[in-house]
Amino acid sequence: MGFDQWVRRDAVHVPISVSDDQVNASDNLTANMPEISPSIPRALADLPVEVSVNENQQVSQTEVSQILSMDWSSLESQIGQCRGCKLFQRRTQAVPGAGDKQAKWLIIGEAPGEQEDLKGEPFVGRAGVLLNNLLQAIGLKREQVYITNVVKCRPPGNRDPHVDEVAACHAWMQRQIQLISPSIILVLGRIAAQHLLQSSDPVSRMRGEVRHLPSSDIPLIVTYHPAYLLRKPTEKAKVWIDLKFAMSQINSQD
Ligand code: URA
Repeated sequence: MGFDQWVRRDAVHVPISVSDDQVNASDNLTANMPEISPSIPRALADLPVEVSVNENQQVSQTEVSQILSMDWSSLESQIGQCRGCKLFQRRTQAVPGAGDKQAKWLIIGEAPGEQEDLKGEPFVGRAGVLLNNLLQAIGLKREQVYITNVVKCRPPGNRDPHVDEVAACHAWMQRQIQLISPSIILVLGRIAAQHLLQSSDPVSRMRGEVRHLPSSDIPLIVTYHPAYLLRKPTEKAKVWIDLKFAMSQINSQD
């Protein structure tokens, strides 16, 4: 599939702090989960990626390996129970993703908003309606693609997700990519693109070229987020170009 263990080359040391309340809450909520890494406190053993909690202690690669061997049903249920960062405290529910699990197109956005948090489905608000229309314009129905976000729980007030929140969700998406094995990955917006490509470039510089995730040969195209297009409709033409470019990549594989 050309996409194996994906360990981020940098940015693996993300300092986080976990309050006593979080530890207690997490203790209760994870009581039935297997102890994965005995050396790691239970509250931190939920963190799915290499997030260092102090200079010496990292959440183990063993745990990432466990996620990377999950089937869809375990993956979705474990995402639903995840307490890997503080976003679990205020979510209605986690939003793992939706669509065709054998899709050629994997679309990755930023994080659920209010509507998505309520419905448990990504891109169902205004940005989602626009995304559906954009897909339709290139002959795709929403049900033909798989849509997810780099962060599976809603950041309060729809703020940008923090670096540790994106990092805590990373392995879930890694496994989704492995399971779907898409022909193309379309990344929407700066937050998702900068995380996935480990870049600080703006979207304007990341779009227009085929890119790849580390150790992956799946073509990845970056474009603007539909929420940005709602604010700046004149940029829709660029997204149209990017979608056609993505489609041409798929057609060149057939
Ligand atoms: N914006 C996103 O990035 N994702 C959603 O699911 C909804 C809005």
